[in-house]
Amino acid sequence: MNVPLFDPTTATEPLRERIDAALLEVSAAGQFILGPNVEAFEREFAEVVGASEAIGVANGTEAITIALRALGVGAGDEVIVPSFSYYASAEAIPPTGAVPVFCDVDPVTYISTAEQVKAVMTPRTKAVVAVHLFGNIAPVAEIEALGVPVVEDCAQAAGSVGPEGRPGALGSIASHSFYPSKNLGAFGDGGAITTSDKELAERVRMLRFHGSRDRVNYEEIGFNSRLDEIQAAVLRVMLPQLSEWAKHRAAAGQRYSELGLGDLVTLPQPTAAATPAWHLYVVATDNPDRLAEQIGASGVESRGYYRSPIHEQPSMRAWRPAPGMLPGTDQAARRHLALPISATISDRQLEQVVTAVRDASDQ
Ligand SMILES: *Cc1c(COP(=O)(O)O)cnc(C)c1O
Repeated sequence: MNVPLFDPTTATEPLRERIDAALLEVSAAGQFILGPNVEAFEREFAEVVGASEAIGVANGTEAITIALRALGVGAGDEVIVPSFSYYASAEAIPPTGAVPVFCDVDPVTYISTAEQVKAVMTPRTKAVVAVHLFGNIAPVAEIEALGVPVVEDCAQAAGSVGPEGRPGALGSIASHSFYPSKNLGAFGDGGAITTSDKELAERVRMLRFHGSRDRVNYEEIGFNSRLDEIQAAVLRVMLPQLSEWAKHRAAAGQRYSELGLGDLVTLPQPTAAATPAWHLYVVATDNPDRLAEQIGASGVESRGYYRSPIHEQPSMRAWRPAPGMLPGTDQAARRHLALPISATISDRQLEQVVTAVRDASDQ
């Protein structure tokens, strides 16, 4: 039996009829942009996250750019972002006119600490993109206590819970992605911004609609960036299942640990009192590519997602820190390996993964 790295379809199979009915309703209603499903989803999603407002946008990358613009980030500013993340976390910064400044991560949690953020702060720092990577939770309140607003990048953390609440309600403003493979995935691209600051929410609504509040006056250069009715209708069927899916992801991580995986490789460590809905279950080992090949031979998929951290990408050349400045990032990039996890992964599959890793370690 093969164990796939991720499985976005099994969990939604029981919802198929309701999803199809919702899609037919949208088709019959004939309203495809900013209609009743988007409005209802915005309310429902805000409530789940614990923020007072949610604003649907086109994808999780533009969600970051628009959130930064809403905070007033522009030319001449610096925005701090971890280099060990999905590329889009940093790619979203230059379109505001600001430049990315890369901070390090803790290679055991894969999250930036407030100290690591502080180490690269300058008088030009206007905001921080704090990434809740792999579903783990960044210390947003500690970072904001340094005196800069945070955009939480929640793309990988739908369903995670921390002691101070859920990602998306921990700081000034937050971005979310509904890309199909994420913990809460639509049938295409989609994203949202959450905030409990009414003024910021109004700025986001203005920016997502070409910089206009009334569709008559265009006060700023904005974006054409909306969540569409079809995606919102699909997401409304899925949203009530999110907490169950998240529990399964958290329990799967727990089970990996109970099965002794931690004796074979370094397990990802949740940050203070967090219950991560692991989007990816990322372990660390000295020779991850060899391990991947060995477990692959027994049908277990795995992948090193960020072998080249963002600051090493050619497009980021101008903003690359000196070699050796990001030791936690370099270590995480070299050693990490994502093992299978999903909202429906079975106990047998988890056992098969651990057995494969054990057999590989014995060789
Ligand atoms: C997926 C992802 C994004 C971008 O989301 P899209 O909806 O694909 O644009 C941003 N940040 C992180 C950490 C992600 O994983």
